[in-house]
Amino acid sequence: MEPRTCDVCGDPFVAVRENARFCSARCRKRHSRNPDDVVPTVIRAAPLVEGEVSSIEEATRAQLEAVDRARSPLGQIALLLARRLDENRRESGMGVAAVVREHSRVLADAVRGASAAADPVDQLRVRRDRKRAG
Ligand SMILES: [Zn+2]
Repeated sequence: MEPRTCDVCGDPFVAVRENARFCSARCRKRHSRNPDDVVPTVIRAAPLVEGEVSSIEEATRAQLEAVDRARSPLGQIALLLARRLDENRRESGMGVAAVVREHSRVLADAVRGASAAADPVDQLRVRRDRKRAG
């Protein structure tokens, strides 16, 4: 039987039955109590590949810095939530889905409107000026 990922915690497991969706009785119970609280596919599908973006925080930071918003209040919140997601990655699915929703909402807000103004040349200038000033 093919290994698959648990619908709740995202851990790989070897299914005993054809239609098994959970790695353990614990996850099955968890799902029956709270069916919406599953690890979203994006997280499940993002392995910790060496040499690539290794954390949600890192990916978030890259996205924020691309539009020079990493230091904005919303950018900071997005990073904080990303850190929580990284910390929760190996835990159960409990609460993760809620944080994911919050993170994507905040990150979208944090970068909103920035791409239009985000001329790469301008950004280089801003960064350079900041370095000179600081
Ligand atoms: Zn599980």
